[in-house]
Amino acid sequence: MTQRPSLTLIGGGLVGALLARQLAQHGFAVEVFEKRPDPRRAGFLGGRSINLALAERGLQALRTAGLADEVLLRAVMMRGRMVHATNGTSGLQRYGVDDSEVIWSVSRGALNMLLLDAAEASGVRFHFGQSLLDADFERRRIRLADEDGTLREHDADLLIGADGAGSALRAAMNAHAPLGERIEPLGHGYKELEIPAADTLPPELAQQAGGQGCFALEPHALHIWPRGGYMCIALPNAEGSFTVTLFLPAQGPHPSFATLPDAAAARAFFAADFPDLLPLIPRFDADYAGHPVGTLSTLYLDRWHLDGRALLVGDAAHAIVPFHGQGMNCGFEDTVTLAELLAASPHDSAGVFAEFQRIRQPNANAIAAMALENYVEMRDSVADPHYLAKRALGAQ
Ligand code: FAD
Repeated sequence: MTQRPSLTLIGGGLVGALLARQLAQHGFAVEVFEKRPDPRRAGFLGGRSINLALAERGLQALRTAGLADEVLLRAVMMRGRMVHATNGTSGLQRYGVDDSEVIWSVSRGALNMLLLDAAEASGVRFHFGQSLLDADFERRRIRLADEDGTLREHDADLLIGADGAGSALRAAMNAHAPLGERIEPLGHGYKELEIPAADTLPPELAQQAGGQGCFALEPHALHIWPRGGYMCIALPNAEGSFTVTLFLPAQGPHPSFATLPDAAAARAFFAADFPDLLPLIPRFDADYAGHPVGTLSTLYLDRWHLDGRALLVGDAAHAIVPFHGQGMNCGFEDTVTLAELLAASPHDSAGVFAEFQRIRQPNANAIAAMALENYVEMRDSVADPHYLAKRALGAQ
């Protein structure tokens, strides 16, 4: 193998850690600077969605990195959508004819830690608690701050930003040469609540709700309570709990997060709109009051790279709304394409970065559009009798 340039990654989240693993497997020396402390020591500081849907595209990237089996050991299979109507009835809409077409619920924290371990095992060097402040692309140096605010500089010939939707590297690149950035807020936000494992609930509740074993609901499904302009979803966690996410307009007439400013108002709203779900969330008031409202936007960029010096991947390049459950999956696909291109032409980063954008941008744009469309389908059409009739006839 010829001598390969060293690579500096910003962000050791899902995409950064998997990319680092793959680049190291291709023989690159990789250093990663991650803002947060090491989650394996400090505990995982989530920030958003506690669990995620892993689909075939993401799974294929994990296979490439030799990690799919290990990840699936900790995942819960979801065979389809379990749609819960207001009258308390529910029905499963399968994703495929059998279990060869399923998606998987994975814990963000556990997956991130597994990827960090795997990247380290391949020789990647992580620097935790190091937040990128800015980059001097002429001098090829970056400036970082640690948790105490102590500043340091670091040489970085080739920079890759996997630092998420609010990417600091993107801001630095944009300041150097505008990237054509456009951020479109969805106008809807989300809040996470928890259904605990069944053994902490009155037994008759889980029984009524169709629970199995330690799960208070059917474990092998992505649960949806569609209510027209808004919805709740719930994904299973391996230890028996479910993470519920309420999606609602941020502002505007009832119901919106603006009209549900506190737990009492939200509880009354749930009692009316999600009467079967509310009793399964015993810590409703604490969850509602304690968890922030997350915002959702789609990010579009004309350019993902600054010639051969810096490139953005994952959410830093193409953050999307989560309604297809494909943001991480799409970012995972990025890692395979980029690692293969760089391995094939390690000394032509400008050519590789341009080719990476050429290949990946149409995919990212397509999934961004599908994710926006799927919000309407999930919160609305899945409960529409005409839609169900069409599905029964084979239309998707
Ligand atoms: P991130 O996960 O945001 O990681 C970025 C990393 O960079 C973090 O570790 C952060 O600490 C670090 N960082 C940030 N700034 C700096 C800095 N200045 N210096 C150094 N490090 C920095 N996707 C799916 O595929 N399936 C789903 O079911 C799904 N559900 C979702 C539900 C919700 C509610 C949301 C909001 C998103 C969901 N997504 C889902 C999308 C998914 O979360 C993202 O696409 C994925 O996390 C992107 O990974 P990333 O590594 O690019 O960014």
